[in-house]
Amino acid sequence: MIKIHTVLCREGTMDNYAYILIDEATGTSAVLDPSETKPIIKKCEELGLKPAYILNTHHHFDHTEGNLELKEKYAAKVVGAAKDAHRIPGIDIMVEDKGSFDLGKSRAEIIAVPGHTTGHILWYFPESKAVFTGDMLFNLCIGGLFEGSPRQMWQSVLKIKSLPDDTLFYPGHEYTAQGASFAKYNLPNEPELDKYILIAQQKAAQGQPVCPLPLKLEKLCNPYLRARSEEEFLKLF
Ligand SMILES: [Zn+2]
Repeated sequence: MIKIHTVLCREGTMDNYAYILIDEATGTSAVLDPSETKPIIKKCEELGLKPAYILNTHHHFDHTEGNLELKEKYAAKVVGAAKDAHRIPGIDIMVEDKGSFDLGKSRAEIIAVPGHTTGHILWYFPESKAVFTGDMLFNLCIGGLFEGSPRQMWQSVLKIKSLPDDTLFYPGHEYTAQGASFAKYNLPNEPELDKYILIAQQKAAQGQPVCPLPLKLEKLCNPYLRARSEEEFLKLF
């Protein structure tokens, strides 16, 4: 099982989330998607941690810019998709679709989800019921298609939809407010969406991240996940 700490980075501009993951059995830790280093180092110091790994969901600078500094500071190994090896700074360990990576005794399953970028992966920890979705899935919306097509993204969305309902998902940015307007426009009469938006507003008012929320709610309230067919999905673009 992993323990997860959420770290807000690039606050007020891109509102990225980095995550600190600790394998409870061994104390082995990792930083996922360090878009900058200052808030992450501060949190690691608070927790008394020396991360052994840096995990990336994809190559974009606002997910990897902290790689090299953290790698040097902690002598950590950078882990990312083999497909993106040429553009992930400092990569040491390559992972592949349907492969796995062990953080101590916690196993992550690697799921390729092309669309936002061609090499984007999900880090899915089934035992801990947690999935790190990077810029593939946000609260109530999905990531922009920088390198892939809507059709490719639909295949990736199907993979998210196939994960268990009680999985908590951890996105790469705080974009809930934007997602809420989009979702409300597409699903004006979904009572669960109104509840979702209320929960999000309450958390934001308390200065808390909206994530994590269960995929069950996302499958119901996120128009992209709610689509029942490729045709319905493509209409959203
Ligand atoms: Zn990105």
